[in-house]
Amino acid sequence: MTRVVIVGGAGRMGRSLVACARDAGVEVGAVIASPHSATLGQDAGEMAGVRRLGVPITADLGAAIPGAQVVIDFSRPNVARDHVDQCALARIPLVLGTTGLDAGIETDFERAATRIALLVAANTSLGVTLLADLVARAARALPDRFDVTIVEAHHRGKKDAPSGTALALGRAVEGPAKRAVDYAVVRGGDIVGEHDVRFIGEGEELNLAHRATDRAIFARGALRAAVWLAGRPPGRYSMRDVLGIKSVS
Ligand code: NAD
Repeated sequence: MTRVVIVGGAGRMGRSLVACARDAGVEVGAVIASPHSATLGQDAGEMAGVRRLGVPITADLGAAIPGAQVVIDFSRPNVARDHVDQCALARIPLVLGTTGLDAGIETDFERAATRIALLVAANTSLGVTLLADLVARAARALPDRFDVTIVEAHHRGKKDAPSGTALALGRAVEGPAKRAVDYAVVRGGDIVGEHDVRFIGEGEELNLAHRATDRAIFARGALRAAVWLAGRPPGRYSMRDVLGIKSVS
């Protein structure tokens, strides 16, 4: 079993990570929530709706890190930099799934990756990891007269827009040629996550799409990434490395 610390543990993704951990071969060593969370002191397993784990939720990442092999962070962008620094200082690998990060954090990632194995992924599902490859291939193959619009839809509680996944797919479309991409955002109800990459030409449209109906797909991907990352040498890694996806180009 790989022993992990789950950061953002009281959130939608945090609860799914705790619930999926055992089946993924992961031992939940600690669960970290915001210092303002009403869940502090509760049992992490009960909070996630599974069995009692004997792991009380705390707000002290610094105290939890030394007992862990990997940290998984699905929390808030404003605290991501601090969490990256803490992991780098303690030399503990990090899977960072939090989105809405400012562009400047790339410098922190590069610095951290000289000390730890670091995997940053706006989407940890198998389907979207493969979709990014397919989108890059379509963008290279289709002439410039095809306009590209990425339409994303999420639940009403999602903080960032466009989603981190939409922006990552946009980067896959842009490629070295810097092809222009438009974004359209839908927020409502309990939509887990939908992404449509629309290549719109005259008289035809190519639409590459992904539908997430259960956020356990992200949790399982992140847990698999954590198991894979434990013990790896410092550097940047991606979900493509974890899932062994070969380029389709
Ligand atoms: P959420 O709002 O339900 O949960 C976020 C949690 O982080 C909250 O419970 C909040 O209290 C907690 N938090 C805030 N400050 C903290 C701190 N200092 N330490 C620890 N925890 C803290 O959001 P969510 O739907 O669970 O999503 C969390 C993040 O993951 C978002 O950025 C979201 O976009 C991203 N996400 C990524 C993927 C992926 O595949 N990579 C999938 C879904 C969501």
